[in-house]
Amino acid sequence: MSTTNARPLAVLWNYVFIIFLVHALGLLAIVPWFFSWSGVALWLIGQIVFGTLGITVGYHRLLTHRSFACGKWLEHAFATLGICCMQDTPARWVAFHRKHHQYSDEPQDPHSPLVDFFWSHVGWVVLEKPEHRQIGFYERYARDILQDSYYLSMERHVKGMWIYAVHAVLYYLAGLAIGWAWTGNYLGGVQLGASWLVWGVLLRTVTVWHVTWSVNSLSHIWGYQNYDTGDDSKNNWLVGILAVGEGWHNNHHADQRSARHGHKWWEVDGTYGIIRALEFLGLVWDVVPPTGSTAKPSKKTRETAASSPRKLAPVSAETAGQMSFTSAE
Ligand SMILES: [Zn+2]
Ligand SMILES: [Zn+2]
Repeated sequence: MSTTNARPLAVLWNYVFIIFLVHALGLLAIVPWFFSWSGVALWLIGQIVFGTLGITVGYHRLLTHRSFACGKWLEHAFATLGICCMQDTPARWVAFHRKHHQYSDEPQDPHSPLVDFFWSHVGWVVLEKPEHRQIGFYERYARDILQDSYYLSMERHVKGMWIYAVHAVLYYLAGLAIGWAWTGNYLGGVQLGASWLVWGVLLRTVTVWHVTWSVNSLSHIWGYQNYDTGDDSKNNWLVGILAVGEGWHNNHHADQRSARHGHKWWEVDGTYGIIRALEFLGLVWDVVPPTGSTAKPSKKTRETAASSPRKLAPVSAETAGQMSFTSAE
């Protein structure tokens, strides 16, 4: 494995192919044969279930920033929903995002729009810098994630892609069964299954992609700043709505661990509402308040402090040896 940073960007052709393919198949939604109102409903519900619970609650506020705590089973469930968004593995997502916060809009930022809009939106996903292929990148930014055997297993044998494929097949089979039973016609079942696959999985994957990518692109270009964070992070109302609170990005850069990204009364943060609802149900706890709050950490916070990422040991040689991507070109 090379250690030089002077090597050119590597085109991840498998990522290019998958992103192109899913866009092409997702666009089948405009073909009337694939339309169903239940498919539209699955698309919208999926935007919340997978995009918000998987990426925003799971990958971002929980795994990356530890803005709240919950049981392992629930953490893994959130992460699995995130895996079904095809936004790469938990470790890779977390590593890139933590590096983004460390070097926001500096040359080392993985996806600053100061390069150009395309780069910040999707270019950085398909054009890999040499330093992001090295184990040191993961050791520095995601060692806590890789100490979880479930997340580590995602780095091998494209397991995440299998999880995505299984959930897509389940959507199709559910549509097939219900459509067949409803119409009494096998072809009616095939049509509803195809509709649920196109609207509920493929189109939803595309729209969740662009919503997430917009946080990196639009929310570093257009909007206003409540705080002088020294970077170009902005509060963008459009992304705030589409990404269910993630668009209040300048607030987030100013106070990264806070579970609440909306700081003004009009900065509606639905994701925070979901976290508080889960807290009310007793499923999550130690919800990190905005800086300046007088709230005191709970007993559970003090107990779990010993397992914070900063206190964990580096990735072991054994762990590194199991990570297939470290030698991938
Ligand atoms: Zn940012
Ligand atoms: Zn963040």
